[in-house]
Amino acid sequence: MKFIKECDRNTKGDRAWVEIDLENLKNNVEEIKSSIHDNCEFMAVVKANGYGHGSVEISRYLNKINVYNFAVATINEAIELREGGVRGDILILGYTHPSRFNDLIKYDLIQTIVDYNYAEDLKKFEKIIRVHLKIDTGMHRLGEDFHNLDTINKIFSFKNLKIEAIFSHLYVVDSDNKEDIFCTEEQIKNFFKIAEDIKERFNKNIKLHIQNSYGALNYPNLPCDYVRIGISMYGVKSSLNDNIKSNVRLKPVLSIKARVAVVKGIHNGDSVSYGREFIAKSDMKVATVTIGYADGIPRNISQSNIYVLVNGRKAPIIGRVCMDQLMIDVTNINHIEEGDMVTLIGKDKENYISVEEVAEAAGTITNEFLSRLSKRLQYYYK
Ligand SMILES: *Cc1c(COP(=O)(O)O)cnc(C)c1O
Repeated sequence: MKFIKECDRNTKGDRAWVEIDLENLKNNVEEIKSSIHDNCEFMAVVKANGYGHGSVEISRYLNKINVYNFAVATINEAIELREGGVRGDILILGYTHPSRFNDLIKYDLIQTIVDYNYAEDLKKFEKIIRVHLKIDTGMHRLGEDFHNLDTINKIFSFKNLKIEAIFSHLYVVDSDNKEDIFCTEEQIKNFFKIAEDIKERFNKNIKLHIQNSYGALNYPNLPCDYVRIGISMYGVKSSLNDNIKSNVRLKPVLSIKARVAVVKGIHNGDSVSYGREFIAKSDMKVATVTIGYADGIPRNISQSNIYVLVNGRKAPIIGRVCMDQLMIDVTNINHIEEGDMVTLIGKDKENYISVEEVAEAAGTITNEFLSRLSKRLQYYYK
């Protein structure tokens, strides 16, 4: 059969798909674990479909390698994990509407107390409920302000709240700028000050967590009980030029592939795609690829010099990315035909395209690019 090629052996003729390398995921978890202290547990952040990697499959695999702490953003994400058979603690980092409180119990979930008023809502619910109390140490997003000792103390008097941990979030820990470092150190100082106070007064065994990926990589020795690891577990940095103090060796977990649908010759002066943004400066060969912005490839990416890989060779993306397709310049690629595999992220022969490069070309960070990958993509785990 002419159309079945080597690259098709593991896919089902898909038009666009994601390949997940679970060995690399394991490597990253082990590397990060070995860089933090022994009494600190790894909490895997698998919100937004596991940063586009597939939250249920990733979490089930993590269970197999002894990770039993998870964090998500929403109650529906948490329920999806439970219904997918994921075991262990699941912390909801974001707001849950009071009409959903019963589900917290039904699915054995842990809710974040997002501020004092919210703690009162949880108190009115009356049933015993597992919670982590969030303290705002300067991001001004979620959490009760660390200055408000009175309201924080009051929350601890609410008998139905099983407050298992207090936590905060670092907002500029990826920076090596002096003033930014000062802000992070102030956050850390204020968090541990209030933690000491709470431990003394209410519960000396209450758990603490404040580090996200860059927090763990840049401040690995904080006396916390958990690190909340998202982006670095997936083996990438948020941005190409981020400096990380830790020397952990992270390996990217995700690749994105699609196919050549059409190969055609065009003439000098012809335009490609919507809006005549690309105009050929000479006769050239163009291929149409079966992936577009509805799959998560950002529309503005063609304004950069980004390329894809076909048969191990670089082919620039030209013209605007469409909803379901994009076009590439394959003038210099001799052997190319319909059905050929195209690599948008990952390795093809000796060439490699990283998530960092693609995110940068789209003017964003890898976190946004990955979390926007669409469920229209097929997923393969190996
Ligand atoms: C998303 C998130 C994380 C994970 O952040 P990374 O930088 O991806 O590791 C940790 N904590 C909170 C509160 C988050 O919202």
